[in-house]
Amino acid sequence: MSQVDNEVRPSNFIRNIIDEDLKSGKHTSVQTRFPPEPNGFLHIGHAKSICLNFGIAQDYQGQCNLRFDDTNPEKEDIDYVHSIQDDVRWLGFDWSGEIRYSSNYFDQLHQYAVELITKGLAYVCFLNAEETREYRGTLKEPGKNSPYRDTSVEENLALFEKMRLGEFKEGECALRAKIDMASPFMCMRDPVIYRIRFAHHHQTGDKWCIYPMYDFTHCISDAIENITHSLCTLEFQDNRRLYDWVLDHLDDFNQPNRTRQYEFSRLNLEYTLMSKRKLNDLVTNNLVNGWDDPRMPTIAGLRRRGYTPASIREFCQRIGVTKQENLIEGGVLDACIREELNENAPRAMAVLRPIKVVIENYPSATPETINAPMHPNKPEMGTRELAFGKELFIDAEDFRESANKHFKRLVLGKEVRLRNAYVIKAERFEHDDEGNVTTVYCTYDNETLGKNPSDGRKVKGVIHWVEASTAKPAEFRIYNRLFTDATPAAFDTIDEVINSESLVVLQGVAEAGLVNAEAEKAYQFEREGYFCADNKDSSKEHLVFNLTVPLRDSFA
Ligand code: ATP
Ligand code: MG
Repeated sequence: MSQVDNEVRPSNFIRNIIDEDLKSGKHTSVQTRFPPEPNGFLHIGHAKSICLNFGIAQDYQGQCNLRFDDTNPEKEDIDYVHSIQDDVRWLGFDWSGEIRYSSNYFDQLHQYAVELITKGLAYVCFLNAEETREYRGTLKEPGKNSPYRDTSVEENLALFEKMRLGEFKEGECALRAKIDMASPFMCMRDPVIYRIRFAHHHQTGDKWCIYPMYDFTHCISDAIENITHSLCTLEFQDNRRLYDWVLDHLDDFNQPNRTRQYEFSRLNLEYTLMSKRKLNDLVTNNLVNGWDDPRMPTIAGLRRRGYTPASIREFCQRIGVTKQENLIEGGVLDACIREELNENAPRAMAVLRPIKVVIENYPSATPETINAPMHPNKPEMGTRELAFGKELFIDAEDFRESANKHFKRLVLGKEVRLRNAYVIKAERFEHDDEGNVTTVYCTYDNETLGKNPSDGRKVKGVIHWVEASTAKPAEFRIYNRLFTDATPAAFDTIDEVINSESLVVLQGVAEAGLVNAEAEKAYQFEREGYFCADNKDSSKEHLVFNLTVPLRDSFA
């Protein structure tokens, strides 16, 4: 297990259960697993489950397996298998031993299905989909027994073998557990445990044309791996009956200290979709630029946006683990990264909407070099060199011809301080045909580098800037919420709630040193926000920065 430092050990109802189980001697060590289905990229909801499962293993000196729950070959893909491993590692966790696949157990699962048939506890059913639905009954009405329920063990064994050999068509029949068609839990009304799929599997190739269902596979995979606490989200609460039923009826697993399932509530985040299927729709409909688009709530998207593993773990810690349904405010995740970056991110200057400043009394055509701190409160982070000269860029929003005293930036005829540099005064300006300011002509006070004007003039405003001759052109990608409604999943079509302004691209300039900005490494661009160089599109020739978070909470 990799070590995750400086994080307080959380307490929650699952850890209480584990403490009890260790105290009573039911278990002597803890074994968990994280079981993603490789049908998409992991999202922040999975991070909650990862931090819970791997975090428990770490804190109890136990083990956590990474197991691909790969029983739906049509929807799965080897690319997802790879991205999921990358994401788990990037979050700071490592699994115990080899990667597992439910498909590793297809032979055993098949054997256990045969065991159930032999015990008269499973049968091959030929009802079609519609008949099966009819026979199942409803929440108010019990179901009816399938006419195939009392087929003899010998015949069922022969039929199941024929299923395996590909002698039936897809959907023609299925293997069902013989439980209780009148159970108040729908999942107990003779659930299908094996179905026919003539599909190529990314791990087992064309070996199988029958595939086990999730409920049958999951509990047995857990039991084979000696999982002690099988943690999943609340929608599997009813399925726990089936989880227990299967294991209780298999000789290898019917022991008191076998795996148990515990459910916790899933993470829901405001303004975010949290389902691989729906995220996949965003990707395939080109509403975002791939799974790792920085607007996506995927781990890969958050990473590209500039979130750090520590900030995501901190978020998972803050939201906690309970059984309560919840909708977490977007500001909670932002706060985690903002607090971290405020502490650690080096400062830099970038101008997102540049206009020119010409300092008419600047004596030289060649720029001078001045030193600026990397962080205002951390001298140990050192300093950086900035060029200062006759021509600079400032942000268009930082100049006005006239303004009241609340506008603490550059105003015609008034003074403002350039961050890390001198005090300047706006003398006159030029604009284009549409009235947009293009150039502000200024004078500077060369006695004000790092000190106040000597005659006691008060200069309140401070603005950022970049020297023109050394400035690097840069693209800035400003991200807003992807959806206009806090609960986009409640809408039938995504088009109704997609925010058409979720990405705004600005072409501006950055201080020269940023040409060496490493991808994913955060900077605070002073007065603008936290940014990082894009891990796909940024290069020395074409700098591209992603806005991670603005300086202040925009949700408030
Ligand atoms: P999705 O709907 O996004 O596909 P899933 O539950 O089908 O989610 P899996 O790949 O089966 O995705 O999930 C792996 C693990 O992650 C499961 O144990 C699941 O309970 C957990 N998980 C998935 N989504 C969330 C969430 N929003 N909050 C907490 N845990 C989650
Ligand atoms: Mg799933």
